[in-house]
Amino acid sequence: MKLDYRRYDLRLKHTFTISRSSRDTVPVIIVNFEKDGIVAYGEASPNVRYGESIETVEKFLDSIELERLGNPSSLEKVNEYFDSIAPGNPSAKCAVDIAMHDWICKKLRVPLYRFFGIIKHKAPISSFTIGMDTPDRIVQKVKEATNYPILKIKVGFPGDEEIIKAARSVTGKPLRVDANEGWKSRGEALDKIRWLATQNVELVEQPMPAEQIEDARWLRAKAKLPIIADEAMAYHDVSELSTAYDGINVKLQKSGGLFKARKLIHEAHELKMKVMLGCMIETSVGIAAAAHLSALVDWNDLDGNVLVSNDPFDGIKNEDGNLILSDDTGLGVKAASQS
Ligand code: MG
Repeated sequence: MKLDYRRYDLRLKHTFTISRSSRDTVPVIIVNFEKDGIVAYGEASPNVRYGESIETVEKFLDSIELERLGNPSSLEKVNEYFDSIAPGNPSAKCAVDIAMHDWICKKLRVPLYRFFGIIKHKAPISSFTIGMDTPDRIVQKVKEATNYPILKIKVGFPGDEEIIKAARSVTGKPLRVDANEGWKSRGEALDKIRWLATQNVELVEQPMPAEQIEDARWLRAKAKLPIIADEAMAYHDVSELSTAYDGINVKLQKSGGLFKARKLIHEAHELKMKVMLGCMIETSVGIAAAAHLSALVDWNDLDGNVLVSNDPFDGIKNEDGNLILSDDTGLGVKAASQS
C-alpha cells in the first residue's frame, strides 16, 4: 500500500479574475494511492479563501498513517479517520477521498457513477466560466465560448453592468453570474440583481459576504432571481442556508470529497433547495470525480479542466457543455499521453 503525491502547476488559458483575486497559474496536488497493483488518483486544489495552501495539503497528507486507512471499503470510516487527523483541510481530505473512491471502483470494476447507483448518466449541461475583464475582452471571451450554451460570468465590482452589457452585445444565451461576495450592502446587491433580472440572467451566486446570512435572507425575499450559496457553505450548515438561499453550490474541494458532497446534495434536495455542482481550477481527476455526481444536481459548473492548457489527465470530455464520462472503471481518468 502506497500513498504518493506531487505538486503540479496548472496554467490557465486566460488570466482568471474574480472579485478578490487574479491568477495565471494554479498549483494543485495530485495524489496516487496504490494497493493490490491498482493505482488510484485524487486531487487537491487548495483555496486560500479557506486558509489552505499547497503546504497545508502536504502536511495533512504526510500525517496520514497508511495502516489506519486499513480496508478502504468503508468510505464512512475512512472519512471519519481523515476528520480525526485535523479539522478543516477540505481539499486535502478531498484528494484522498477521491483516490479511495477511484480505488474501490477499480477493484469492483465499475465506473464511479454506477457505484453511486446512477444507472444512466444524463447530467444537466455545464456552464462555462468567464472571469472578470474589460468589456472588450469580455466580448472576445464570449465569442471564444460560442460552443458553450450556458455561460457563468464573474461579477461583484463597480463595472458589473458594463461586463454584462458587453456579453449581451454578442450573445443571447442564458447567463449565470457569480459575485463572489463582492456586493457589500443590501441596497447595492438588490439594485444589481434587479438589473440582472432584465438581462436574461438565470441565477446569482454568493451576492454578499458569506457570513451575512441575515442580509442574504433579506435579499432573497426581495430578489427575483434564485440566490445560490457558495462561500457561505463554509459558515453555515445546509439547514441554516435553506432559510436564506434558494440553492447551494457543492464543490468536492470545499466539502471534503465525494462522500461528503453526496450527503450535502441529498440534504439540500430534502430541504427543497436547488443544487449546483461546482469546481475549482482542477485537472480532469477532480472534474471527473464531480462529473460522476453530475446527474444528481440541477445545475453543473464543471469546467475547471477546460480552463487550463496543461491538464496532465484525460478521461472526462466537455463537448459543448455536455459532460461525457468514460465507461472505464473508477474515475475513468488516465495520464494524458503528452504529459
Ligand atoms: Mg462561486
